[in-house]
Amino acid sequence: MQDTDIKYVILSGGIGGAKLVEGFYHSMDPEQLMVIANTGDDIIQYGLRICPDLDIIIYTLANIVQKGQGWGIQNDSFNCLSHLSTMYSQPSWFNLGDKDLATHIFRTDQLSQGIPLSQVTQLMCDRFNIKSTIVPMAEDYIPTKVETEMGMLHFEEYFVKYQFLPKLKKIIYGGTSNAYIPESIDKELKKCSKIIIAPSNPLLSIAPITEIPYYSNILKKYRNKVIGVSPIIQGKAVKGPTIENFKSLGLDASCIGVARYYQKLMKTFVFDESEIDFTENLEGKGADSDSLSLLNRSLKEMDIIGYAFDTVMSSLEKKKALAKFIIDIDI
Ligand code: GDP
Repeated sequence: MQDTDIKYVILSGGIGGAKLVEGFYHSMDPEQLMVIANTGDDIIQYGLRICPDLDIIIYTLANIVQKGQGWGIQNDSFNCLSHLSTMYSQPSWFNLGDKDLATHIFRTDQLSQGIPLSQVTQLMCDRFNIKSTIVPMAEDYIPTKVETEMGMLHFEEYFVKYQFLPKLKKIIYGGTSNAYIPESIDKELKKCSKIIIAPSNPLLSIAPITEIPYYSNILKKYRNKVIGVSPIIQGKAVKGPTIENFKSLGLDASCIGVARYYQKLMKTFVFDESEIDFTENLEGKGADSDSLSLLNRSLKEMDIIGYAFDTVMSSLEKKKALAKFIIDIDI
């Protein structure tokens, strides 16, 4: 934990969230940034505690992530996994590179000595000289489970093993009744200038955090400084099953639907600039309508202030541009 005052706190999932985190990291004093990562994706494989979203964020900021893929360590080999498959006489459905396995061995070893996950994460950040504070949403193991047409699955079974093909019926978050929140979080969430909800999957990456009563209460209380970024652009996800998840649960799979989902938690919403023409055309009104755009009208009804910006973070420059835009929003 750094001594510097935290200015921005980002709630983040994995790949989509890490893009915005990287943008912030390179656009400000990184010591003033705290990232609260989803650990609902966590899984135990071969006895090892794996925290995919924490690792994606750490590898991204350490600049060792497998580029293009967005997870794992670049140019990793898979000798250990191949040998494990022989030992267990079945192929592994969860990809773990050799260097990546070292991360999980280190984490599991530290946890087994009674060191809390937040401290283990800080140790890892120190090893990689990461200047921001990265914390798990909770110290305890509270994985997300999903009820699907194939029965109840661990999140990673649904996501990786079955490639999010089974239709979702219900999501069961691990921390709805109780969770052990890392001590460093409370002061920073209350004191920081802005809390940002990254463009991550709202149901599978952000809700495991915000369904924990501690976070939902604090976000509601500090709603005026919460800024969400839409992971849905023109009715599509950049990657992953966000659209399918929203539809399966009967939610509106659009950027307005995302705003509605976060309505009680955030006051400000950044959506992709291409949405204005897209939403107006959906309504058959034409983009040159002189009235306030449909999108902004919907947001206004939800007591949300909307901002349009290019949110497609396809390069470091674009990640930084979006981060700077959010930093400059006058709340
Ligand atoms: P995961 O945990 O690895 O699945 O990743 P996240 O939950 O953090 O991110 C998945 C979401 O990120 C999807 O809904 C994507 O649409 C969204 N996403 C990914 N890249 C971008 C981007 O460049 N811009 C925006 N606006 N959303 C993105």
